[in-house]
Amino acid sequence: MDLNTVEQLIPATGREAVDAFEPGDAWLAGGSALFAWPDPKLRRLVDITALGWRALTATDAGLDIAATCTIAELADYGTHPPPAEWPALAIVRGCCEALRGSFKVWNVGTVGGNICASLPAGPMTSLAAGLGAECLIWQPGGGERRAAVADVVIGDCVNALAPGELLRSIHVPADVLRGRAAIRQGSLTPMGRSASLLIARVPPADLAGEAPAFTLVITAAVARAVTLEFAEVPTPAELDAAIEARLVLGDYFADPHGTPRWRRHLVRLHARELLEELTGA
Ligand SMILES: Cc1cc2nc3c(=O)[nH]c(=O)nc-3n(C[C@H](O)[C@H](O)[C@H](O)COP(=O)(O)OP(=O)(O)OC[C@H]3O[C@@H](n4cnc5c(N)ncnc54)[C@H](O)[C@@H]3O)c2cc1C
Repeated sequence: MDLNTVEQLIPATGREAVDAFEPGDAWLAGGSALFAWPDPKLRRLVDITALGWRALTATDAGLDIAATCTIAELADYGTHPPPAEWPALAIVRGCCEALRGSFKVWNVGTVGGNICASLPAGPMTSLAAGLGAECLIWQPGGGERRAAVADVVIGDCVNALAPGELLRSIHVPADVLRGRAAIRQGSLTPMGRSASLLIARVPPADLAGEAPAFTLVITAAVARAVTLEFAEVPTPAELDAAIEARLVLGDYFADPHGTPRWRRHLVRLHARELLEELTGA
């Protein structure tokens, strides 16, 4: 894609880049989405990979994933091997592989770029929603705010970031990482874009009774992540009923990657599989 309205490429040097953001600017991360469609409003690209943020930071509180962490860096972290005390990280690799990109996209595409591109089939949005992550957002004027990813990615290629706001990182809580999680992804073709991507999780034994016994997060089949929490492990019939109560046919996403009716079928099927895998129900 020739972006022939762009006049300047500016390496971001620090927090002040947020205050210097102007109409006609765009944050540039890996560029794999930004360079894929025309935007005649663009005048300047502000390269946030120049900020040199550490990709992944593990603390007692959980895992902080920098917005500029690449899909490749995240996939490696979840694979070699996932820290034993954080079994939920086992789903990271599957989420990364749900991004049906090339070697180049795998190596330049970022977690933040994926969330901010806000495609329904954005697997980093799925991962963040599935693990109950919180986004840290830098705001013009020196402020910052935190928001659940379902309140950031709010529609098909629509997000709730105000002009100039910069996604800094996502934080995955340790209490979720200490539990178990599983993933199911469905596409029309083996290498097709996700028509449905479900993540389910159960809490660690020491949080039984405090945290929901079973959590299901539905993404890709819908334009905005839907989370269903169950105080007790549901029966398959109760799970079906909860999905039906939350989503009518018109809530399912429609595009060349799947009809609403088929996506609804995938969601029900995969939800039951996840319930069985994680709870034996
Ligand atoms: C062959 C191919 C297959 C693909 N498959 C998929 C797929 O299956 N699913 C999918 O979701 N995408 C897919 N993509 C699109 C894209 O590659 C990914 O979404 C990728 O993760 C985007 O990351 P990036 O770092 O390249 O983002 P960029 O292109 O740099 O940025 C994307 C958008 O987000 C903004 N942005 C970037 N970082 C931030 C930040 N930290 N704060 C605020 N705004 C920011 C940019 O200004 C831009 O508007 C595909 C692309 C290609 C070329």
